Amino acid sequence: MKLIIRRSAILFIFSLLLLTGLVLFLGNYINNASTWVQHSSNRHLYTDGKLNTTGNIYDRSGRLLLEMIEGNINFHEDTTIRTAVMHATGDLNDNVATGALVAFRDRLSGWNFFNGVYEFDDMNTSGNDITLNLDAQLCATAYRELAGHKGAVGIYNYETGEIICMVSTPSFDPAHPGNIPFDDPRHEGVYINRLLSSVYVPGSIFKLVTTAAAIDHIPHVKEKVYKCEGKIQIGEDIVSCLTPCGEVTLEQALATSCNTTFAQISLELGSKTLQDYANAAGFNSTMHVDGIQTGMGRVDLSDAEGANLAWAGIGQYTNTANPLNFMAFMGAIANGGVRVPPSLLSDEGSFASLIRPLIKKERIIPPKTAEKLGRMMRNNVTSTYGEWNFKGLELCAKTGTAEVGEGKLPHAWFAGYLDREDYPLAFVVIVENSGSGLRVAAPIAANILRAAVN
Ligand SMILES: [Zn+2]
Repeated sequence: MKLIIRRSAILFIFSLLLLTGLVLFLGNYINNASTWVQHSSNRHLYTDGKLNTTGNIYDRSGRLLLEMIEGNINFHEDTTIRTAVMHATGDLNDNVATGALVAFRDRLSGWNFFNGVYEFDDMNTSGNDITLNLDAQLCATAYRELAGHKGAVGIYNYETGEIICMVSTPSFDPAHPGNIPFDDPRHEGVYINRLLSSVYVPGSIFKLVTTAAAIDHIPHVKEKVYKCEGKIQIGEDIVSCLTPCGEVTLEQALATSCNTTFAQISLELGSKTLQDYANAAGFNSTMHVDGIQTGMGRVDLSDAEGANLAWAGIGQYTNTANPLNFMAFMGAIANGGVRVPPSLLSDEGSFASLIRPLIKKERIIPPKTAEKLGRMMRNNVTSTYGEWNFKGLELCAKTGTAEVGEGKLPHAWFAGYLDREDYPLAFVVIVENSGSGLRVAAPIAANILRAAVN
């Protein structure tokens, strides 16, 4: 009897070990199977470290952007289109780490959780195709509009999250990568998707964050009048405007981008409140675009007081912004304060498309604040930027001219959204070292947005 009990106990322990092992394996499989399969030593999928599968990448209109036949890649026939979407598709040598060829490798390889990798002989090849939300023709327009400048353009549907335009420059023709003079400074950072990965000094577009905080935290701010004599002394430092703005309300100060008013407002708000609003707007955190991690804009006000705090509220100091994150902030304002995460992969009609907006929507500003901020952004256009420049777009926007050091032209920004039910689009345009936001970035944005609604 004693022997039986002992044997049962041993058996029980072994069963327990087996079960534990199984559970651990299953857990590991769920988490890592995709990565295991994608390992470049897997000869089902890779030859000499490169994907050798068969699959196509389409844009939202069904344009074939990239065709891969057993590892051989053909890009779109039009040079401008394939160059404009190069950062989205990826390149022959997988140098663009955020391109679909690398970032969406598991989808292109046809891997899925239940079946693993299909055998190619009897598979349905459509299992390997992916469709991007991008409109390649619009990307080509954006690429042409940037006209050789370094920078980025992003446009997305703030209700569904679909990114319809994503362009980063410089780019290159992925069909002929050998022609790029890489030691040429004009190609600096050519493999980086600046919309997803870069961070820049935001300059005055950051005043939207400061304005949101002011709406909520400065009593009777709507009626309050600030005085701008062209400059204001804060400690040792002087904050100035190009010309004196005179007596202005918050709304007028945003429209003329009055630095001295925003300096005063930043000091009134204090570093803690401004930090909270910066964090809520998406600074100091990254986003994930279908698994691709974005760059992280930073706002650190822990030691900021006096002039530093004033400059931070104006978008200078040590602030940086990631273009895509800022575009999502624009989308949130347009969407009554709720941010829908931008997405590149089309999953139209799938289960994922149904639950995605439900699980990822996030309120980042109160509804009333978003509404007031939106009205002020509309006023920027009608009172200052010139409605005739953006006719029919119902544009709400803010310019930015970010100082980046002596001897260098500032970065030009233009960010905002269309207040249109038929085209719920938010956007961001950044043109590096090119001049004023209103003179350089705004006309580029206008031309691309007009193309988007036509
Ligand atoms: Zn001023």
